[in-house]
Amino acid sequence: MKTAVLWDIDGTLLSIGPSVLHVTFSKVTGVSPLKSFKTHGMVDHEILVKLCKVNGVKPNSKTLTTLEEESLNLVKHWVSDGNRREELPGVRAVLEELDANSEVSQGLLTGNCEERAWMMLETADLNHYFSFGGFGGDSPNRIETARRAVATAPAHNHLVVVGDTPNDARCAKAIGARSVIVLSGAFTRAEIEAEEPDAILESFEDAETSVKAILD
Ligand SMILES: [Mg+2]
Repeated sequence: MKTAVLWDIDGTLLSIGPSVLHVTFSKVTGVSPLKSFKTHGMVDHEILVKLCKVNGVKPNSKTLTTLEEESLNLVKHWVSDGNRREELPGVRAVLEELDANSEVSQGLLTGNCEERAWMMLETADLNHYFSFGGFGGDSPNRIETARRAVATAPAHNHLVVVGDTPNDARCAKAIGARSVIVLSGAFTRAEIEAEEPDAILESFEDAETSVKAILD
């Protein structure tokens, strides 16, 4: 059986970092204080449109393009200053084990735009585990992003989404994938259970249990 595993980045592979989009939005639009909201599980495009709307800024294409470009510049500076994102405990051992399995291919399913996603993973030296992906920069929502990830995956007959939000579990259902949700993000077990994922993990610290949950 060939399995394609679609990994979320923020809160799943890497600990949640500073909100690049919020910082960029304030800088570009001059809106301060910023009206914010919970963005976990949303893609960049959705977040930027909503940030505009709740803060009284018209989300036209020029503004959105500027925000996307500036957020990428911000991250480039952040990385060139030597900043690094932290991998979550146990993640590397799970990626290693799946990487060694010739029946498994690993890709990304993330709300980050593609360039930022690879840059972030590179700072934690995790980029080399992934060969394809769906990215949020140019998709309207996570389900569309997931469909793009599936379209770029090597041939497979089993699909798994690994994430940390209720949205990841919903998205997995929408594309007919199994879902494994880790409780390392910003949501409670009850909030995750409400979406009935196929498996819930406390963390990836037990590699054997984690791999079993992913390949079950
Ligand atoms: Mg996440």
